[in-house]
Amino acid sequence: MALIVQKYGGSSVADTDSIKRVAKRIVETRRAGNDVAVVVSAMGDTTDDLIDQAMSIDSNPPAREMDMLMTAGERISMSLLAMAIHAVGAKAASFTGSQAGFMTDARFGAAHIKSVRPDRIRRALDSGHVAIVAGFQGINEGGDPTTLGRGGSDTSAVALAVALDADVCEIYTDVDGVFTADPRIVPTARRIPRISYDEILEMASCGSKVLALRCVEYAQRFGMPLHVRSSFSHRSGTLVLPDGMDPRTLPNVGTFSSMD
Ligand code: ASP
Ligand code: MG
Repeated sequence: MALIVQKYGGSSVADTDSIKRVAKRIVETRRAGNDVAVVVSAMGDTTDDLIDQAMSIDSNPPAREMDMLMTAGERISMSLLAMAIHAVGAKAASFTGSQAGFMTDARFGAAHIKSVRPDRIRRALDSGHVAIVAGFQGINEGGDPTTLGRGGSDTSAVALAVALDADVCEIYTDVDGVFTADPRIVPTARRIPRISYDEILEMASCGSKVLALRCVEYAQRFGMPLHVRSSFSHRSGTLVLPDGMDPRTLPNVGTFSSMD
């Protein structure tokens, strides 16, 4: 049985209909015979809206309270997603970053993951549940919630995949993978079926927003295969694999139009 970590970004869980759609997809993956752990971002613009609310009260809010607030966004999406999976007849349980064992340093708003101890996640998987984990958050030594910096859910997903020794970390977004340019702006942009960690790091450092830099560095360090793909299609997206890994050995790759 393969173990797949799937990360769904804010655009994939923007409203309750999207959450239901994503739930179906997760259950399909599970029923195809895989264990599935999911990392989820806050719905749509929730994080931005929370920041706006804070700023309307205090332009320099206390960092601890800011992280307390920001971690609420992912709690909403994770619990709704667990309910949506339950509603289609599968078992699911959601976990905060702290419950999932994400220990971080004390830097509110820009915390670094020090270790991941996913015992509860493993137990949930072993008892046949889909485990849903709040992205972008952890807990510091003092027991306070921390956030990892904007876009941090990608890093949460890779860190969880590494800690669980998953077979692949799938990053779901609203486009079919990594493109030569932003396909929403440049219609002639081409999907890149396969790319190296170094190349994608270079794109990220040039300002391309495909994946958070830290998430790719983490994946490269631990040789975790990434599959960047759309939650709106079943096509295969972009694979970022360690040198020499055969893409056909990966679970759940979808239909390759150009396997190269
Ligand atoms: N919700 C957080 C953000 O918008 C984390 C993430 O989406 O990765 O930055
Ligand atoms: Mg987000």
